[in-house]
Amino acid sequence: MLNIIIFGPPGAGKGTQSAKLIEKFGLKHISTGDLLRAERKAETELGIQASEFISKGELVPDSVVVGMVENFMAANTESKGFIFDGFPRTIPQADALDHLLEAHKTRIAIVLGLEVDEDELVKRLLARGKESGRADDQNEDTIRNRFSEYNAKTQPLINYYKSQDKYTGVDGMGEIDRIFEDLSKAIFKLNGSAGL
Ligand code: AMP
Repeated sequence: MLNIIIFGPPGAGKGTQSAKLIEKFGLKHISTGDLLRAERKAETELGIQASEFISKGELVPDSVVVGMVENFMAANTESKGFIFDGFPRTIPQADALDHLLEAHKTRIAIVLGLEVDEDELVKRLLARGKESGRADDQNEDTIRNRFSEYNAKTQPLINYYKSQDKYTGVDGMGEIDRIFEDLSKAIFKLNGSAGL
């Protein structure tokens, strides 16, 4: 299995690059943001509870997102690998993911970090909010809160994965195709990915 985490702050391009990586490497996409939005749309209990956190720009509790990822993986055991997008976002989520993968006799191969300036991120989020209608991309207070959550709880994961020798940072500014090439090169460099 080839398991990849696509990492970065809100607006870094994780969704865009995930779509291209999935196509190229035949992986299953797990976006906890997409899963939560689907729950919210279906008005499930989980979706209604998560809604409050999402609209304030706060992280949804770890147990909720870990449970969703666990269910998704259990339903897709035949997959060649997963690309985790927007997950993990906290150290406890990363620990839970390590245990989940261990139970499936696999592990994270690489963490690809998209590195983008904060000014550019705000511009991208506001533009995306206009296009997609996503409420949490339109409200500046919510956006600010998402960055402060990222800085406090998610950014420490860079050192977590650096200490496991799994983190590769990629310049996430500029052309989508150039960024994708850099990500693909990092994957091809991995030992054991030659057979892909
Ligand atoms: P995203 O689409 O990844 O930007 O996620 C949108 C919102 O969903 C975030 O601002 C959080 O409120 C929530 N969310 C998504 N993924 C997670 C996660 N792994 N942990 C906690 N909250 C999450």
